Amino acid sequence: MNPSSRSTSRRRFLTTAATGAVLGPYALALSGQTVAKPAGNFPNFARGEVVRTGGEVGPDGRFVEAARAIPLAGHSQVLVVGAGPAGIGAALAAARAGAKVQVIETAGCLGGVWTAGLLTKIIDGGRKTGIMQEILQAMVARGSDVAKKTKGEIYDPELMKVVLEEMCVTAGMKIQLHTQLVGAVTDKRNRLVAVITESKSGRQAWTADRFIDCSGDGDLAAQAGCKFDVGINAQCECQPMSLMALLTGLDANAIPQYVREVAGEKAKSNMVKLMRDSGIKPSYSAPTLRLLHSGIFSLMTNHEYGVPAYDAAQISEATIRARREVHQIVADLRKLGGPWKDVAVVATAEQIGVREGRRIRGRAQVTVHDIVAGKKHADAVCHVNFGFDVHNVRPGDMFSGLDEIEQEVKKYRALGSKPYDIPLGALIAADVDGLMMAGRCISGDFIAHSSYRVTGNSVPMGEAAGRASVASLRLGKLPHELSAPELKAT
Ligand SMILES: Cc1cc2nc3c(=O)[nH]c(=O)nc-3n(C[C@H](O)[C@H](O)[C@H](O)COP(=O)(O)OP(=O)(O)OC[C@H]3O[C@@H](n4cnc5c(N)ncnc54)[C@H](O)[C@@H]3O)c2cc1C
Repeated sequence: MNPSSRSTSRRRFLTTAATGAVLGPYALALSGQTVAKPAGNFPNFARGEVVRTGGEVGPDGRFVEAARAIPLAGHSQVLVVGAGPAGIGAALAAARAGAKVQVIETAGCLGGVWTAGLLTKIIDGGRKTGIMQEILQAMVARGSDVAKKTKGEIYDPELMKVVLEEMCVTAGMKIQLHTQLVGAVTDKRNRLVAVITESKSGRQAWTADRFIDCSGDGDLAAQAGCKFDVGINAQCECQPMSLMALLTGLDANAIPQYVREVAGEKAKSNMVKLMRDSGIKPSYSAPTLRLLHSGIFSLMTNHEYGVPAYDAAQISEATIRARREVHQIVADLRKLGGPWKDVAVVATAEQIGVREGRRIRGRAQVTVHDIVAGKKHADAVCHVNFGFDVHNVRPGDMFSGLDEIEQEVKKYRALGSKPYDIPLGALIAADVDGLMMAGRCISGDFIAHSSYRVTGNSVPMGEAAGRASVASLRLGKLPHELSAPELKAT
């Protein structure tokens, strides 16, 4: 069963509660009328006083939170949720186009999977222009020999944090880190008008003229009541998660056959053979060791299967399991001695890498058939060169091709993929107005997602969403009312 239908009634209940009761006095401000001052004694938010939460367990066994006043933290023209590759593109494009931009990010840094996720490789970014190209060049200018040799596509995540902060601060946007989106408010016109966040500052409301969901998992759109798809089948089976790690204590010259940048694809099979011959059984059958610079490597060696991107308890268990596996594998490699005798973990990612979350229903959809046919669009926002990349969704060796999902993927892989366009419509929410998406949560099917999701495409998608949001404001239209020429003119 698709979880969108399962949870619709619950979301509707929460939306009504937030619009009608919690934001009661502020809802007037949203419709342009004078704000009525709430009656009674309210905490002094500036002093860090908090609103005590009331509520009770309802007759159906769920906890019903009582209405309470919360601070209206700010108004922006474009509000971007999530500052991963897509969010960076969106926020920079909107701010540079002159909009007042607010970024809400739950991690303690900008960059999403690039930084908090310790990714280290940008796929399909090399031939892009615009902000993607700018970031690559900035990484080369600030980076290592490897970044220079790979034109920035292999990068150091720590450098990426500071490069992105500099670019975003220079563009003049407001950034609130350590802040998670937890709710969204739509008005009677079905337009998104406010979001609710939680952080050390407590619960806050933020109004904006346009919103862009760059949360990867589609949190904002789901909270706003948009329909979405998850995974490939009725069980919503998804690609696995992986916890990335940085390693030290290795000399690339001593182990060239295992280093992805030296031995190419073969490095993965060499690595898994070494591990298996030594009694190490990684949950990912194509472990990837990359050289970043000066003795620092990245390692992807684990798969966490069957973990929904929207279940915090299961994600927590997967993270702990994955971290234990990564440390154990590195400890076992160290026991091999020789070139491995000093290998050690420098860091594991703060955020487990999520390949798939919700795919929000848009006004258009990217499909596997588009990729096989190399489809072009008049309102193209991104040209994708990368093909299908579906990691196996169930435990087992990659590409063993035995189960029905792998066979489905194999069928399309055999047909081949051609470069194709992502249309603007796939970035515009179908069910709620004033909301766009960018990055891996845009509208597409399971196999298409495996292609367009990579970061070299997420940035241009974000850039297009940021520009389209500002153009729609300037022209007094909603994003879905923009014509292809109007989009091109932005
Ligand atoms: C293990 C792994 C390996 C991969 N390998 C590659 C690779 O080598 N090269 C490549 O280009 N791509 C790779 N990908 C794919 C790529 O990482 C993603 O598809 C890409 O990150 C999509 O970018 P995004 O901005 O949409 O999402 P993300 O990078 O996930 O960014 C989403 C951001 O939103 C924030 N956020 C989420 N929810 C909320 C909320 N409720 N409130 C506030 N903030 C929120 C997150 O903290 C994050 O910063 C890999 C993915 C994984 C998981």
